[in-house]
Amino acid sequence: MYSLKVLFIGDSAHVMPPFMGQGMCSGIRDASNLAWKLNYVLSGMSPESLLDSYCVERKPHVADLIRLSMEVGRISCTTDPEIARQRDEALLGGKKLPSPPFPGLVHGVLMSDPNSVEATVVGSLGPQGRIQRGDEIALADHFLGAGWHLICADDISYALDSCTKRVLDRLDAKIVHFGASGGAVDVDGFYRRYFQETGIVAVLVRPDFYIYCAAETPERLNGSIADLGRILLESGGHEVSGRRQRNVAA
Ligand SMILES: Cc1cc2nc3c(=O)[nH]c(=O)nc-3n(C[C@H](O)[C@H](O)[C@H](O)COP(=O)(O)OP(=O)(O)OC[C@H]3O[C@@H](n4cnc5c(N)ncnc54)[C@H](O)[C@@H]3O)c2cc1C
Repeated sequence: MYSLKVLFIGDSAHVMPPFMGQGMCSGIRDASNLAWKLNYVLSGMSPESLLDSYCVERKPHVADLIRLSMEVGRISCTTDPEIARQRDEALLGGKKLPSPPFPGLVHGVLMSDPNSVEATVVGSLGPQGRIQRGDEIALADHFLGAGWHLICADDISYALDSCTKRVLDRLDAKIVHFGASGGAVDVDGFYRRYFQETGIVAVLVRPDFYIYCAAETPERLNGSIADLGRILLESGGHEVSGRRQRNVAA
């Protein structure tokens, strides 16, 4: 028996200014956030409290995009002739508009130590480059499909403990690694650059493509994935909201 009766997504949940084209994008993000969680709860795999993370994750993200869209609107819709003249002169002279980083998720089913380099990628979208399988070359999700993906710079299976393997197995997570023999082919060197630039060796990507956790060393995955098992696979009203930071109380 579920106590939650109504969940709002898309324009019924938020109204987006048009200036960044983010209205429908936000609705699609709502839907993909909710879809995997509803699936887990309705199939009996996860506790109903998992659904509490929907609003916790989506509300600040949409609010950030509304603020950014309004900023962009202030530039394009100014009614001050002098400001409009300066803007046009700058843009026609080749100057680019300041481009703040695109917002990511900041709370919810995410796990990172706030003082680690891992925190810089957790809550952002997972990496997506072209890989090769046989003669076929395509973006990774063409081969991987939906679901959880553990994407690793190299083969790190030696470092995964039995609990981690059990959780990944229950979630039907696909493991992709590069580098060692038998690994996927990183056609454009995209993943090599991603791991070099971020200083991490692996990311665990959720079914809605946001990064749940990252690891500076392979062994660091075990704690975060054990926590994921407690959030998703154990019933009993486990608190799932605001778990971004392992060492900060929710
Ligand atoms: C001019 C314009 C340009 C846009 N450009 C972009 C863009 O570039 N990028 C972007 O991401 N977004 C854009 N958007 C926003 C985007 O179109 C909306 O965010 C998106 O369509 C919202 O989808 P939705 O399914 O949440 O709601 P809707 O598309 O409004 O769908 C709701 C549906 O519910 C139906 N309905 C309402 N009441 C009932 C009822 N009582 N019973 C049964 N059915 C009902 C309605 O008829 C409608 O079909 C644009 C919007 C406009 C107007």
